[in-house]
This record gives sequence, structure tokens and C-alpha cells, in this order.
Amino acid sequence: MKTFEYRAATGLADGLEPGAVFLGGGTNLVDLMKLGVATPDVLVDVNRLAPELGFGAISDRPDGGLRIGAGVRNSDLAADPRVRERYPVLSSALLAGASGQLRNMATTGGNLLQRTRCRYFMDASKPCNKHTPGSGCPARDGDHRNLAILGASESCVATHPSDMAVALVALDAVVNTSGPAGERSIPVADLHRLPGEQPDRDTVLDHGELITSVDLPALDVAANSFYRKARDRASYAFAVGSVAAALRVEDGVVRDVRLAWGAVAHKPWRARIAEDRLLGAPAGRASFLAAADAELARAEGLRDNAYKIGLMRNLTAWVLEHLS
Ligand SMILES: Cc1cc2nc3c(=O)[nH]c(=O)nc-3n(C[C@H](O)[C@H](O)[C@H](O)COP(=O)(O)OP(=O)(O)OC[C@H]3O[C@@H](n4cnc5c(N)ncnc54)[C@H](O)[C@@H]3O)c2cc1C
Ligand code: SF4
Repeated sequence: MKTFEYRAATGLADGLEPGAVFLGGGTNLVDLMKLGVATPDVLVDVNRLAPELGFGAISDRPDGGLRIGAGVRNSDLAADPRVRERYPVLSSALLAGASGQLRNMATTGGNLLQRTRCRYFMDASKPCNKHTPGSGCPARDGDHRNLAILGASESCVATHPSDMAVALVALDAVVNTSGPAGERSIPVADLHRLPGEQPDRDTVLDHGELITSVDLPALDVAANSFYRKARDRASYAFAVGSVAAALRVEDGVVRDVRLAWGAVAHKPWRARIAEDRLLGAPAGRASFLAAADAELARAEGLRDNAYKIGLMRNLTAWVLEHLS
């Protein structure tokens, strides 16, 4: 591992110098440093940021929503009674991720910014446009079984691995940041990028921009919500496809719906085409499958990941039927 300086952040303006990166739980960053994929000069540990900043707290918002400090651990967030009752999709997504030990360390900010698990990206000796721009994308013709079917480019077909982020996108959550240009708020749906010609940039954040909190809006439909994840093992495995959904049905008709997909694109995928199809439609398997098909019309399978198209179709219908 390359040598680096470690220091504890004392305020929101720390970490702006070139070569500095923030350290949350370290469960992704330290792994990438051991592999030689991440080579920071300075680790700025944000775990001890002053409690009065609310970095480690979950608090009620005046509009009835919640503010989640970026330092809140995944296990604490999943167990919070307000989250379990008002946003069960978030709790179920968190509990579907990683292991108990990892969730005890992993933070809200770090989970959102974890890197893709594309095997070529994780191997510093391999070409990969994400870690070495211009070196190529061996995944397109190589191992892409777990990679993207939506929004990919010739340069990169990686997927975003976070379960939590998929639920946050379905819930219209907003990330608050503090950085060189001041403070800003970004919908989680706009935080991550599609790869295009610049897959080395995962998000729209600037260097030195710290996630301080995530806001969940008050959302009645979220009380009836769920996350389902398909994976190769029953636990302790990243998704090959996942669905976060919230649904309100009245008199057999869909009156409100939020739908997001995970592990299908470079970012958590808000399925807005499917949502539009569902609003006002009869709540039943035929409508659910038709809505998923409309969203998947843009999907492009590669040699070994085309199975995800059928998987997402069935998983979506299953979750919506479960919520009906
Ligand atoms: C074996 C294994 C299995 C896993 N399985 C799953 C799974 O099934 N589902 C899933 O979702 N995840 C899974 N994970 C990933 C795990 O959830 C992430 O590693 C974790 O959430 C990252 O959070 P962290 O706080 O440890 O981030 P760190 O590793 O500390 O940081 C990750 C990135 O975020 C940046 N960062 C951290 N905090 C901030 C902040 N406040 N502002 C700006 N930048 C910040 C860091 O600089 C770094 O670039 C797994 C991990 C492992 C090792
Ligand atoms: S899919 Fe993206 S991360 Fe994977 S090898 Fe290609 S460029 Fe690298």
C-alpha cells in the first residue's frame, strides 16, 4: 500500500487539497487502497466531526421528513424506528446489503460513494477506463455478467453497487454537501452519472465536496414500500438486480408509485417510464409487467448479462404485487 498521511477532520472545509480523500467507515476505500486502485496522499477522517453539525444523527425535519447525517452507520439507519415505519424500503435495502459487521462500520455518505465492483476496475494491473482513462474497457467482451443493461456506453458498462442508494432514489431523497463552491443540495437521482465518455467520474461531486447529510421528504406512499434484491447467494453478495418500490392502490387502481432499479446501470435507475405507465392503471400483474417492459425497451444486453432483462421484468412485477 502506498504511504499516506492520516488526519482527523476538524471542520467542513478540511480535505480540499489535491490528493486528499475523506474516510468514512473505510470498508470500501481501504480495500481499494490495499489493491492499489485508490492511492490517496491524505486520508481526512470525517468520523469525529463535531456532533453539533449533526453528522452522526438522524433528526426530524419540519416537513415531517427525516435528515440523516452522512456519518450515520448503515445498521443504525436500518434499525431507526422512524425509518422502519415511514420508509421500510430504506430499511429493507440496508439490511439486504453486505454483512452485519460491515453495516456497523459503513456510513451513509460512504455507501453512496462506494465504487463499482467491476472486476477489472478492482484489479490495478488491468486496463480499465474508470481507473485509467483511455486504457479501454475489457468488460465489454470479457466478464460482464453482473454489469449494466441500461445507460451504458462504449467506454464503460459498470454498475453502481449500493442497495441503499436505490431506495433513496425511489424516495426522492436529497444529498446535502459542503465543498469548495459552498453548500448545495442534489437529488440522489442526479448524484451519480451515466458513464458516457468520462466513466472515471462516478458522480457530479467536486473534489473536496463533503456529503454532510441526506434528506428524506415526507412521503405518505413510502409507508407501503419494499426492496427486493436478486443475488447469487442468499446473503453477503452484491445484487445482480434489485427493485425498490412504493405503491398506493385505491379501488384497484394505482394512484401513486415510486420505482427504482439497482445493479442495472452506472447509477441507481429511477424507472420513470414504468411509473408513468402505472399511474391510473389497474393494479395487477399484467399492468406491472407492461410497465416494466416499457422501461426495459431501452435495455441492451451483452453476451452474458441479457438475462437481467427478464430478471428485472419479473422482479418488478413481484415487488409491485407484494405491495398491492
Ligand atoms: C465484502 C463486502 C460486501 C458488501 N456487500 C454490499 C452489498 O451487498 N450492498 C451494498 O450496498 N454494499 C455492500 N458493500 C459495500 C459497503 O456497503 C460499502 O463499503 C460501504 O457502504 C461504504 O461506506 P464507508 O463509510 O465504509 O465508506 P468508505 O470506504 O469510508 O468511503 C467510500 C468512498 O466515499 C467517500 N466518502 C466517505 N464519506 C464521505 C462523505 N461524507 N462525503 C464525501 N465522500 C465521502 C470516500 O472518500 C470513498 O471514496 C460490501 C462491502 C464489502 C467489503
Ligand atoms: S466496465 Fe467500466 S469499470 Fe469495468 S472495465 Fe469497463 S471501464 Fe472499467
